[in-house]
Amino acid sequence: MTNMAASAVAVQPPGPPLWLLAEVTYRCPLHCVFCYNPLDFAAQGKAQELPTADWLRVLREARALGAVQCGFSGGEPLERDDLEEMIAEAHRLGFYTNLLTSGVGLTAQRAAALKAAGLDHIQLSFQDSTRELNDFLSHTKTFGLKQQVGELIKANGWPMVMNVVIHRLNIDHIDRIIAMADALGAEYLELANSQYYSWAHLNRDHLLPTHDQLKRAEAITDEWRVKLADRMKLFFVAPDYHEGTPKKCMNGWGNVFLTITPDGTALPCHTAKMLPGLAFPNVQTSSVREIWQDSEGFNRFRGTGWMKEPCVSCPDKEKDLGGCRCQAFLLANDPAAADPVCPKSPHHGVVKAAVEASEAGAVPVRPLVFRDPKNSKAFVSPVGQS
Ligand code: SF4
Ligand code: SF4
Repeated sequence: MTNMAASAVAVQPPGPPLWLLAEVTYRCPLHCVFCYNPLDFAAQGKAQELPTADWLRVLREARALGAVQCGFSGGEPLERDDLEEMIAEAHRLGFYTNLLTSGVGLTAQRAAALKAAGLDHIQLSFQDSTRELNDFLSHTKTFGLKQQVGELIKANGWPMVMNVVIHRLNIDHIDRIIAMADALGAEYLELANSQYYSWAHLNRDHLLPTHDQLKRAEAITDEWRVKLADRMKLFFVAPDYHEGTPKKCMNGWGNVFLTITPDGTALPCHTAKMLPGLAFPNVQTSSVREIWQDSEGFNRFRGTGWMKEPCVSCPDKEKDLGGCRCQAFLLANDPAAADPVCPKSPHHGVVKAAVEASEAGAVPVRPLVFRDPKNSKAFVSPVGQS
């Protein structure tokens, strides 16, 4: 049984977990260098994954608690043969359902089955607008297939939502990336600047763009916004390393988002398992209500009562809630520290040094590491490198 001890810090009772992220598997045919899955993802293989019945119960319990959106993610969620069954149950329960996919495994037959199951929305990821870089970054030959999947999504009448993780290696293609999304008939394009956790953190020296690259990319995106008008919505997710502004991570710890990992571990965000000294409950031994309302893992960083200086006396503490706990651990080795992207953080120098190295074109300390089971097995547990 998971530790359900109440947090030492009094917190307001939480509202409902509006967003349920079901990471149904960490299996994935791609090997993206910026993957957000934990470095030790290979410890949760097919044998450790929750069976269908448990996922269906999680859906029912989360919906009863007030969850309204359900994202099916991974890894590649299409690796699960029972995905259609889970989506049908989520649809029956009244969730708005979203499939986050690389496209690999989305055949015409599966698309028809997912449509029949009531799937509302598919988010298709690309790594780049060129075959060479798309295939290099994912270490697969998937560019052509993704284009076909884009057409399949349109043919089935789903809104076309594309996601491209942006970083130093593809940011200068932003014009072509937006043109590609337009040619595929996308209604939404998320240009998500890489966040430096997990594999992206490991590969940060290769991936962090320069200030000039970012400014150019933002200007090109703005030009496209004018040109596209209502045809496509563009979301440019700014990187916090350059902005110097901590983000209100996950819209607040345990505030809106509930993530369930493939083995049933419940997390306030998909990378939180790296944080030391926290017991995160599992849906196999605790109900979703117990997890959300009573668990130490979900209560530990709710609100502002856990903060230290400089956050305690900061006028912005309600605005950003001290930034990201995983980033504080990765860069300051302290999950309760101010997020080091904040200029007021005593650890801000780590972020400044990374940005300066990127500006100077410093040679990365190691070759790019691809996300694959062999490399993952080298990480017994996630490590904090700065
Ligand atoms: S980021 Fe790439 S490797 Fe990671 S789960 Fe998504 S598609 Fe797979
Ligand atoms: S000191 Fe803390 S609360 Fe204030 S802006 Fe920085 S991270 Fe946010």
